[in-house]
Amino acid sequence: MQIILLGPPGAGKGTLAALLKETFKLAHISTGDLLREQMKANTKLGGEIKKFVENGQLVPDGVVTLMVKQKMADAKILRSGFMLDGFPRTATQAQDLDKILAKIQPIDCALYMESTLPVILKRLTGRRVCRNCGALFHVVNKPPAKEGICDSCGGPLYQRSDDNEETIKKRMDVYLESTQPVIDYYKKQGKLVKVDGDKDSAKLHAELTKIFNADRKSHKDQKSGRN
Ligand code: AMP
Repeated sequence: MQIILLGPPGAGKGTLAALLKETFKLAHISTGDLLREQMKANTKLGGEIKKFVENGQLVPDGVVTLMVKQKMADAKILRSGFMLDGFPRTATQAQDLDKILAKIQPIDCALYMESTLPVILKRLTGRRVCRNCGALFHVVNKPPAKEGICDSCGGPLYQRSDDNEETIKKRMDVYLESTQPVIDYYKKQGKLVKVDGDKDSAKLHAELTKIFNADRKSHKDQKSGRN
């Protein structure tokens, strides 16, 4: 299964990806996480990336696409199937992804998580992330058992530097300008599946699990000649 998770920042892509990863054992490739790893490593590239991320701007296409291309060279990821979270974010990235996947496996669907600004603001300003394992929490909707400590690994929780109201609004503007064409791109390919990103992620996960399981069963039946 090869899935793209599309939607504005705060639509719940990361939370849904963590749930689907558990259920379907898919690899989760988040370009935001890959970029933050570079920033954390304090490399020269990391320093360049930081300027874009902290201003709510997109990192240049070439940098991000190369990271994804390198990931796609990993046979383990291709065997398990994958979810791309936060990529593609521009029409150029979408075209480049098709080129990368042309020799590998095509995308099955692009899940478009539509969400509204009030929900997005509440989710992002309250979001906390584990510095160690990347698990996601929320000060109101999903507080950790012990304040500031990750339930999964005991690592420290932090607030992303771009999760402040001013940068969130900038990220939304960038999203509307650059990422909207990506939605049209997958619509034209007949691969766009629209879901309600304002919905509770556990409910959405349960609904999608049913759909994906039914889809997998029909593929298996087709292969074995049953209808
Ligand atoms: P995210 O974790 O997906 O919210 O991404 C955080 C930030 O990383 C974004 O606001 C961008 O600055 C950068 N970023 C993530 N993915 C991409 C991408 N596909 N293209 C360009 N910049 C990206």
